[in-house]
Amino acid sequence: MKLETNNWETIIGLEVHAQLSTVSKIFCGCATRFGDEPNSNTCPVCLGLPGALPVLNWRAVELGARAALALGLHINERSIFARKNYFYPDLPKGYQISQFDQPFSANGTLEIMTAERDEAGHARDWKPMTVGITRLHLEEDAGKNVHEGMPDVDRFSYVDLNRSGVPLAEIVTEPDFRSSWEAYDYVNHVRRALQWVGASDADMEKGNLRCEANVSVRRKGDPIFGTKVELKNLNSVRFMQKAIEFEVERHIKTLEAGGHLVQETLLWDERLNETRPMRSKEEAHDYRYFPEPDLPPLVVTSEFIDAVRTSMPELPGPRAARFSEQYGLSYADASQLTAERSLADYYEAAVEASGGNARSTANWVRSELLRELENAGLSADKSPVAPAELGALVSMIDEGKISGKQGKDVLVEMFSTGKSAAAVIEERGLVQVSDTGEIDRVIDEVIAGNPNQLEQYRSGKEALFGFFVGQVMKASKGKANPKVVNERLREKLKS
Ligand SMILES: [Zn+2]
Repeated sequence: MKLETNNWETIIGLEVHAQLSTVSKIFCGCATRFGDEPNSNTCPVCLGLPGALPVLNWRAVELGARAALALGLHINERSIFARKNYFYPDLPKGYQISQFDQPFSANGTLEIMTAERDEAGHARDWKPMTVGITRLHLEEDAGKNVHEGMPDVDRFSYVDLNRSGVPLAEIVTEPDFRSSWEAYDYVNHVRRALQWVGASDADMEKGNLRCEANVSVRRKGDPIFGTKVELKNLNSVRFMQKAIEFEVERHIKTLEAGGHLVQETLLWDERLNETRPMRSKEEAHDYRYFPEPDLPPLVVTSEFIDAVRTSMPELPGPRAARFSEQYGLSYADASQLTAERSLADYYEAAVEASGGNARSTANWVRSELLRELENAGLSADKSPVAPAELGALVSMIDEGKISGKQGKDVLVEMFSTGKSAAAVIEERGLVQVSDTGEIDRVIDEVIAGNPNQLEQYRSGKEALFGFFVGQVMKASKGKANPKVVNERLREKLKS
């Protein structure tokens, strides 16, 4: 049965939890390092032992401010930490220190770019979209229950409290998204912005960026929201997009068939490509919030906010716009080159080294370099080919020292050996001959050696031009600059 999706509207709201990149936890001095021995980074504060008192790590506030400013959000000069009370084994205190009615930032908007996708998932027609940001607040993370990789896991649950007290920024949107791809583009925007300013590593595989989606559907024109489900444990932006898509289809199918939906929390099963209900934590969400009595109100001055703002790099959106303007790149190219800050820095350094050939450098970075980086699993700042070397290669191609085709092989070798462009070209004896005197000499030889073809050509058989080009290239062992060969040959064959 083909679903009549056109009659339905999808409503999605998102919550992103981003770990702020501090060295120590938000209310104690324990390390935030990922992958350490379970429960090795703990102390009375983050274990919730009686009498232990939290002390705010100011670095978490700075990074929270960077996160807010990177997203264009306003920062409240006064916010309040609050206790969110609930019982769960990964939360030894019985409450999480978070923020409630007076958060760090509230009622913001964020401009993102979003695009519909074709069947293959390729974007078409990027357009701006405004997303309402309900709030951005600071909080501590809980610990982690472990159900795998330990002895007797069928009889025991384990808990690792290394993550307990790690600083998070929680960013909550209004239910403004109307498709899974809008949600996808939003999370990627947030992830890039936070990485860009160094607020968070935002690595979903390490769990330092997590997202949850609230999804519902309603008939078009219906003023009331439908029953919503909450999607959790989404380990990648792509899984989130798939999970939303799966739920939207399930909702529409169920409602079209006259069925009922239940409000529930679901997990995405990436193996089966479907959602499944999560074991319920606790049903009634009454967190009995109250102001945290052990911490004073969080006060930041406008001078502090200004200082953070001035310390920030040029943000990805403005930088992509500048790339378009200054380097004459399309929006798609400019946004690809600003996908990560290290890549944008790389590109600009390479343009300079190329002698200002921005377009050609963009092509080399986007196609050849990115492919090598991707194969090697490296980011641009770890590239074995330094930006100055890529620029040098581009400029040698521009000058006709080697051909573009040779350049591709040279780049691959530079990447695998770390050698300079000049060294690889020298070693391979690739230097292209552009000297007209030398090329003329070869052409004269070729013409003298092929009198029959010359006569045929001059009597009108112009297809033989290609034959002469081939002979000259062969005689020069492929080193003659084809452009110069073409020009000189045309000239010489005339007379
Ligand atoms: Zn601690």
